[in-house]
Amino acid sequence: MTPEAAGRIVRVETFAVAPRWLFCRIETDQGVVGWGEPIVEGRAEAVRATVEVLAEYLLGQDPLRIEDHWQVMANGGFYRGGPVLSSALAGLDQALWDIAGKAYGVPVHALLGGPVRDRVRMYAWVGGDDPGQLAENVGARLEQGFDAVKMNATGRMPALASVADLTGVVERVALAREVLGPTRDVAVDFHGRVSAADARRILPLIAPLHPMFAEEPVLPDRPHLLRGVVTASSVPVATGERLYSRWDFRPALEAGVAVVQPDLSHAGGISETRRIAALAEVWDAKLAPHCPLGPIALAASLQVAFATPNFLIQEHSIGIHYNEGADLLDYVADTSVFAFTDGHVSRPTAPGLGIDVDEAAVRRADKPGHAWRNPVWRHDDGGFAEW
Ligand SMILES: [Mg+2]
Repeated sequence: MTPEAAGRIVRVETFAVAPRWLFCRIETDQGVVGWGEPIVEGRAEAVRATVEVLAEYLLGQDPLRIEDHWQVMANGGFYRGGPVLSSALAGLDQALWDIAGKAYGVPVHALLGGPVRDRVRMYAWVGGDDPGQLAENVGARLEQGFDAVKMNATGRMPALASVADLTGVVERVALAREVLGPTRDVAVDFHGRVSAADARRILPLIAPLHPMFAEEPVLPDRPHLLRGVVTASSVPVATGERLYSRWDFRPALEAGVAVVQPDLSHAGGISETRRIAALAEVWDAKLAPHCPLGPIALAASLQVAFATPNFLIQEHSIGIHYNEGADLLDYVADTSVFAFTDGHVSRPTAPGLGIDVDEAAVRRADKPGHAWRNPVWRHDDGGFAEW
């Protein structure tokens, strides 16, 4: 196919599919189809409505003018940024890159400068809200071939931690480290559940266990507190699943985070994640995209991973605790593109995002749809607690 044959955009559709995802599909008058995943978990309806508004602009356009469309969609509405708009934009951006790859007959990473690695390292979730199953979960992931896992550091945490809370975190990480041994990695996700003061206490305590990184030790709206947490220990600090643009990432990088975690479905898609990665390089920070999402978000993440020098490791949602009722592989016709060998995924070679979305399965799943909401946690006194 020649690029001219991509045609003009004639249809933009959205599909709310279990367990908690939203897909979009862009079609041209020449029958070229691109898929994207515009979603904020728990806010699918709001993102869907925003995609529909942005689609008004895209109809009739040349799909290959990705950067120009990105500028208009991101900035053309005067009000900008935030999770809903940035995620709607992200999914549409992924779909436009998918169309571009198909139009030029190459995988997206070829359009981003070509591959810089031959395989991509993945990490797998092992839970951790409740330490009961932790050792068993880590063991199961090792059996699947992974050499890196991620766990939650805590369950619900009080405003300031008790001695038992503090030692509970250390014991959890120690349990995982014991199963992993010295040659494998564990990342520890704080999920914004602890105060900055507690993060400064906890990180030095887990430093002897050498976690790969400590994630979201500070809530995303408190970047001014990040430097104190970064300098409290030798543990590399990661953040970014709730940041949406290169401007959002700048204060975190200035605070000294070691790992940036933009989500390809939240942070303006492939286009903006590439720019965030380049910005991170200035501070010697590595890219580890957040992705507890579906197959299109993962495919988009992998295209960036294969083309980005400062990429570190990729998250995926296969077997994650959130995936109730459906899993990532349910929506792709050929699941082999997500086959893991020794915890790595091979370079996709098919044009576009490199996956074959099972359109019939997607349309079927959209009929019942979903109304996923994240749990609301409360402290013992009835006050709101961070989840
Ligand atoms: Mg996280």
